[in-house]
Amino acid sequence: MTPDADELRWDPLRGGWVVIATTRGRRPSDFAPTVTPVASSAPSCPFCDLETAQPHVLAERAVGNDRITVVPNLYPALRIEPEPETRERGLYVARAATGAHEVIVESRFHDRLLEQATRDHLAALLEVWQARSRDLVGDRRLQHVQVFKNCGRQAGATKSHPHSQLIASSIRPARVMRELALATAHFTCHHECLSCAVIAQERDERTRLVFDAGGAVAVAPFASRQPFETWVLPTEHAASFRDASPSSLSAVAATLEAILGPLQAATARAGYNLVIVDAPTTDSFEHGRQGLEQLEASHHWRIELTPRVLPGAGYELATETPINPTPPEAAAAHLRMLIDRK
Ligand SMILES: [Zn+2]
Ligand SMILES: [Zn+2]
Repeated sequence: MTPDADELRWDPLRGGWVVIATTRGRRPSDFAPTVTPVASSAPSCPFCDLETAQPHVLAERAVGNDRITVVPNLYPALRIEPEPETRERGLYVARAATGAHEVIVESRFHDRLLEQATRDHLAALLEVWQARSRDLVGDRRLQHVQVFKNCGRQAGATKSHPHSQLIASSIRPARVMRELALATAHFTCHHECLSCAVIAQERDERTRLVFDAGGAVAVAPFASRQPFETWVLPTEHAASFRDASPSSLSAVAATLEAILGPLQAATARAGYNLVIVDAPTTDSFEHGRQGLEQLEASHHWRIELTPRVLPGAGYELATETPINPTPPEAAAAHLRMLIDRK
């Protein structure tokens, strides 16, 4: 049911409140195309000519007449070389920026958007992300691997050639640890994985269910922070994306294939961020065997797709409480309609 009055909703997985501002009334049809498209052909695109621009290839995977290529980021945020020793300066703490920053060039074709990719291509991309994540956690200094995609200028992309990125770091990001703490607390009280319980409730209620591929579901989260925010949750429990089975990745690929196009259509191609919500590396877990078992049982990886429809404003900045004018129930209904039309 779409709420008929404004609601404050608690986000059980990420923590924090969201204002679902129904009465401010932005319906799915209100998203007019206001987007300046990124140039469709770029004569100097470095990803079109990888051999010249970036001869050092970390991984390559052929898919039909296409290929996925992983290269180091030429302007990395973090680098492998320095040791992550901590430096204290009075009240402040700093650390060498140890890590890895890689670019996954998703296609050799400049204009082939991810939403046009075949299911096999999407599955291959997930496998490449997973293989790179597994490889990097072999470096025991690294505590977290983040796979992400910025699509469109509003989402922070500076190149239009389809690509995603991966940053492995020697820190455990605050957001990751907050979510892990919430999942662990739920597991301690209820002896169940919070995300598995969320999947069961969403399948039961159906109003926020966007797509069900059996081995994965797409849902508009109860406390969506942006219009048309969509999560893809594998139904097979796995704490980390690194541990996901091939069949689970295949179901996630089928889900992405179904929803990416409709999501872009619903938001007038506003651009989006795709992030994998993943557990920190198990090596980094300092709470012994019991803590590790709790992590394995309570954390459950997923993909978040966040269309960049609304810019953050002062209230969001001050309170980390987004105001979302499109109820997730309305967004899910609209996306289901677009999926049925495909
Ligand atoms: Zn290109
Ligand atoms: Zn689970």
